[in-house]
Amino acid sequence: MGASREILAEAKTRGKLKSVNPATLESLGEVEIASAEQVRMAVDKARAAQPAWGALPIKERLKALKRAKHYVVDHLEELAQLITKENGKPIPESLSADLLPFLDMIDWLSKSAPKILKDEKISLPFQYTGRKSRLEHQPAGVVGVISPWNFPFNIPAGQIAMALAAGNAVILKPSEYTPFIGRAVAKTFEEAGLPENVFQIVSGDGETGGALVKAAPHRLLFTGSVRTGQRIMADAAENLTTLGLELGGKGAMVVCKDAHLENVTSAAVWGAFANAGQVCASVERCYVHESIADEFTRKVVEKTKRLRQGNGLEEGTDVGPMTTLEQFKNVEQQVAQARDKGAEILTGGKKNDSLPGWFWQPTVLRGVDHSFACMTAETFGPLLPIMTFKDENEVIGLANDSHLGLTGSVWTKDLAKGQQIASKVQAGTVMVNELLYTYAIPGTPWGGPKKSGIGRTHGEVGLLELTELHHVHTNTFPQMKDPWWFGYQKAHTEGFLAGSRAMHARTLGERLKALLKLPGVLFKADKSKAL
Ligand code: NAD
Repeated sequence: MGASREILAEAKTRGKLKSVNPATLESLGEVEIASAEQVRMAVDKARAAQPAWGALPIKERLKALKRAKHYVVDHLEELAQLITKENGKPIPESLSADLLPFLDMIDWLSKSAPKILKDEKISLPFQYTGRKSRLEHQPAGVVGVISPWNFPFNIPAGQIAMALAAGNAVILKPSEYTPFIGRAVAKTFEEAGLPENVFQIVSGDGETGGALVKAAPHRLLFTGSVRTGQRIMADAAENLTTLGLELGGKGAMVVCKDAHLENVTSAAVWGAFANAGQVCASVERCYVHESIADEFTRKVVEKTKRLRQGNGLEEGTDVGPMTTLEQFKNVEQQVAQARDKGAEILTGGKKNDSLPGWFWQPTVLRGVDHSFACMTAETFGPLLPIMTFKDENEVIGLANDSHLGLTGSVWTKDLAKGQQIASKVQAGTVMVNELLYTYAIPGTPWGGPKKSGIGRTHGEVGLLELTELHHVHTNTFPQMKDPWWFGYQKAHTEGFLAGSRAMHARTLGERLKALLKLPGVLFKADKSKAL
């Protein structure tokens, strides 16, 4: 088995990407950008390599994925350091949110993929006696994975593992902000010992991603912003490429008056500021019952002030820098607008000048409503705006007043009430007394309605989206003609009338009457007229 590798040698590249450590602003080096021609070549090679990989027994494919898992287990510290250097999150988060979920994904696939991908029988109604229907979950073919920078290891690596398990060849286009982590993902799958070209990486920017869309893979898994998702959908229309779009979120946190105050305030702070708020499932807006709002807000502010912001490589850091300058500016603008409109900034609200990188201080706001950008547009940064509500109906309305619907959470000691509210929140995943983390549970589906995207990744449904449904229907009596074939005569009309009534008439009596008519009608048919 040969190694997968970056397609750089055989066609011209298109310049270089510069990678920067967001905590220190030091350069981490440069990576060549793949040209459109290189991307097309990669897709062609993947098309040629996929059939043999897809034909292997699933056990063999899973064995290769286990080798990738063992490589990660053997290099946890080194990989966590790289993730923290290029993305900025503290080391404990690099381990818990980027690396451990990938290991769990391989375990889940090992246990579940053989069952999920097994052929299925469909039971057929009586009138089709002698026929059999079987569903096969065949590989889709070539899967393109285009990924963001916020979980630069786990998002692509998990999706690649799923696509490979299902028998596809995969091409990864990692984020231009985390190209070295993209390479570490590629190295991980190289260590799996896959056949040549079954996995390839094309490094680059949006143009490289666009070239991958236009090269017409069979499936595209895109994780990123709504704007780019819309652009990709337009580009994919030409080839009718099936898309999985995992886009933005505006996670609402609903805090009922009977929530466990100590825990819910810790949860709000973690949910808003983990990964410097750059999580599609972050708490982006918090609605707290007016009767506990003062105490809740006081505790949240007190806990936020205790957060230690700094370089994620240093032990004890809770919150790192923002990964990109663009994202930093987005937060700056939302806070400026909130300040201008009269919001109260209870803590934070500015750049952390004591640190060299893109550090925005964890910020808590009050006195906001849905006319503020920070309550409606995605922030994707360390901002926690708090609003109050009076009753359940009001808060459900507020939570659903969004163009996004990825995640949400409800906090109450009354679990039945929590689940009732959760069912009414329009989002793909709503957690009760939990938040943020279920992407890390590989067996649960991820994705959401509205502009949060299309389809689901992870879980049974996510794995099946990477397959082509193939229906095989067999007549086990090849010596018999079907009664509905040509040679139509009166007996056909009468037969279909009696048959329709026998199966579907309103009352049992009517059905029985029609059934008794059937043999006579069938007997009348002149078989010599059948073609
Ligand atoms: P982005 O849309 O700017 O970029 C994502 C990827 O798309 C990058 O690899 C980029 O190079 C590529 N790209 C850009 N233009 C392209 C084009 N025209 N054609 C093809 N590819 C193109 O997003 P980002 O800033 O990297 O990530 C942040 C966004 O991702 C946030 O909105 C966040 O909510 C979302 N996100 C969603 C999930 C989820 O599971 N729903 C998870 C993580 C992040």
